[in-house]
Amino acid sequence: MFQIEFDNQDTVVGIDLGTTNSLVAWMNLTKPEVIPGEDGEKMVPSVVSITPEGEAIVGNDARRELIDHPARTVYSVKRLMGRGVDDVQDELKLFPFRVAEGSESVIRLLLGEKTLTPPEVSALILRQLKKNAEAALGTPVTKAVITVPAYFNDAQRQATRDAGRIAGLEVLRLVNEPTAAALAYGLDKRREGVIAVYDLGGGTFDISILKLHDGIFEVLATNGDTHLGGDDIDNRLLKIAIEDIASEWGEDISHSGEAVQTLRASVIRAKEALSFELSAKIEFSWHGKTYHREITRELFDGLIKDIVGRTLGPCRDCMRDANVTPEQIDEVVLVGGSTRIPMVRSAVEVLFRARPHTELNPDEVVALGAAVQAGILAGTVENQLLLDVTPLSLGIEIYGGVVSKIIHRNSTIPASAGETFTTGVDGQTNVLIHVVQGERELAKDCRSLARFDLKGIAPMPAGMARIEVRFLIDANGILNVTARDARTGLEHSVDVKPSYGLTDEQVEAMIEASIDHAEEDYQAAQLAGARVDADAILAATAKAQKNDAWLALTDGDRREITDAINRLQLAYHAQDHNVIRAQIDRLNEVTHSLAEQMMNTAVSSALKGTKV
Ligand code: ADP
Ligand code: MG
Repeated sequence: MFQIEFDNQDTVVGIDLGTTNSLVAWMNLTKPEVIPGEDGEKMVPSVVSITPEGEAIVGNDARRELIDHPARTVYSVKRLMGRGVDDVQDELKLFPFRVAEGSESVIRLLLGEKTLTPPEVSALILRQLKKNAEAALGTPVTKAVITVPAYFNDAQRQATRDAGRIAGLEVLRLVNEPTAAALAYGLDKRREGVIAVYDLGGGTFDISILKLHDGIFEVLATNGDTHLGGDDIDNRLLKIAIEDIASEWGEDISHSGEAVQTLRASVIRAKEALSFELSAKIEFSWHGKTYHREITRELFDGLIKDIVGRTLGPCRDCMRDANVTPEQIDEVVLVGGSTRIPMVRSAVEVLFRARPHTELNPDEVVALGAAVQAGILAGTVENQLLLDVTPLSLGIEIYGGVVSKIIHRNSTIPASAGETFTTGVDGQTNVLIHVVQGERELAKDCRSLARFDLKGIAPMPAGMARIEVRFLIDANGILNVTARDARTGLEHSVDVKPSYGLTDEQVEAMIEASIDHAEEDYQAAQLAGARVDADAILAATAKAQKNDAWLALTDGDRREITDAINRLQLAYHAQDHNVIRAQIDRLNEVTHSLAEQMMNTAVSSALKGTKV
C-alpha cells in the first residue's frame, strides 16, 4: 500500500530519539548495529546547550553545561514535544530554562539570545546523530526511521516528524518503541506467541502486548505512563539528599541551579551503581563543604517501591485490553535503562510469570529495532508486516453533541473505516465535520482534533442527504478524514494537523474517565439521541401539518396528533430519555397513517440516518 523506492546507495538509519538518551543505528549487512559518536560513546544524551555566541552544543558536552549554564541548556525536551504552554506549566517550573513571553500555543524556549521550539531543539539532537552516522559510514544520510513512545498522540508524533524535517532527514516512518524492541529481538522468528514489552526509560513508561501469528507481529494493546521513569527515582533521591544537606549544613542548596545539577549527577551515579552493587555513595562537594551518604540496595528498594509499583497498573490494564492472562504471555522483553534495576526485573517477572529477555542492551534495543525497520523499508531486510495500534478512539461529533466512534481504540493500524451520516435540518447545504479523539460519549468531553465544513451539499429534506465520512490512519499514525456528499460527489478532506494542547496525563486520564463516567455518559448520550429524534419528528410533523393530507384526516386523528405533539414537547426537557422516547413512539404511531397518506417518507426517514 505504501511503496517507497530507493536508490541502492541509500542508507536508512534507525533513530531512538529518547527523553534522556538518543541513539542512531543501521543495518550492517544483516545485523543491526548502533553507531558511536566521535567520542566512541553510543548514547548521545538528549541535551542541547546554546553558547553565548548562539551556537548549539549537543550530547555529553551539553550535559556538562547543565551545571554552569542551566538556563541555556535543555534536557528532556521530548516531554515538551507537541504540547502547549498551558499543558506543561507544572513541568516548566522544574526546568531551569524559561519560555519566551507571548508564546501561547507553541512553546518557545528562551536559551540565552535564542528562542527555540521543542522540535527545533530535537532537530539539533537529530542533526548530531546524522553527523555521527555520516562520519562513521562515510556517506550522506538523509533518510531515517524514528521511534516514538506508543502513547505519543498525533501532535507529539507530528512534532517528531517536524524535528526530522528540520534536521534534514526524510522521516520514512515513525515506529512505536516497543514494536522496535520486539523486532530487535527477532521475535518474529518464533511463529506463534504472546510477547509483553516493558519499557522503563528516563522519562516514560510503556507496556505493549504483541501477538505473533505465522511469524507476523500484531500489537494487541498498549498502555503506559508518559511521566514515569528513572527521572522520578532521581528526583526522589535528590529531594532526600537536599533535605539531608540542609539539616547537616544548615544550608538550603535548592536555590542554586548549579548545586542542584551537580548533586543530581552524583545521585544518578549512585542509582546506576546500585543496579550492580549492594551499596553506593552519594558524594557532593560545594563551596568547601562535603556531603557523603551511603545508600544500601535495601534502602534504595524501599525508596523506589511505589515508583516501580506504578508500572504494574498499566501492565494489568494492558493485559485486560489485550484480553490475555499472565499465563498466556510467552516472552517478556525489557527495554530502557531503568530496567537494569534488579527490583524492576523481579517485579516484572512476578507479574508476567516469565523470566524477561535481557540479552540485548536495554539502552540499545529500540535503536536496533529502528535499524531493522529501516532495513525493511530500504529493502535490505525481507519485508514483513508490522502492525501498531491507535491508543485512543477517533470519531466525529454528530447531532446532539454525541460522538460517533469510527476507529476504535486499540485498532491495529494502518486502519480505515467509514460511516454514512445524514442531515438534521431540511435544506441543509453545510455540514460541520468535527473530528474528535477520546473515549467519552459526548464530544465536549473528548479532544477536538479538527473541524471543517463540507459546503455546497445538495439541499434535501432532513434525513435524505447521504454524507460519507471516511477515516484513514496511515502506518505513521497520521489521520486523514474525508467527508463526501454521495449525491454530488462533492468532498472535502483534512489531514489532521493536530492542535497542540493536550498533556500525556490527559490521554491516560481520558481512558480512565471513560470508565469512571460510563454510566453517566451513557445516560447523557441516550438523552441527546432522544432529543435529536424528537426534534426530527416534531419538524417532520410540523411540515406534514401544512400538507393537504393533514386536512384529509378526521378531526379525531388531528386531535390525537396535536395532543401527541404537546406531550412530546412537554417531555422534551425530561432528564430520562425513556420519557422522551415514549412520547416519540406515541407521536410516531399516531402520525403513521398521515405519513402513509402523504406517500412521503420524510417523517419516517427523518428518524433513520444518524445526523451530523
Ligand atoms: P529514555 O528512553 O527515556 O531516553 P533510557 O532508556 O536511555 O531512557 O534510560 C535512561 C534512564 O535509565 C535514566 O534514568 C538512567 O539513569 C537509567 N539508567 C541507566 N543505567 C542504569 C542503571 N545501571 N541502573 C538504573 N538506572 C539506569
Ligand atoms: Mg527509550
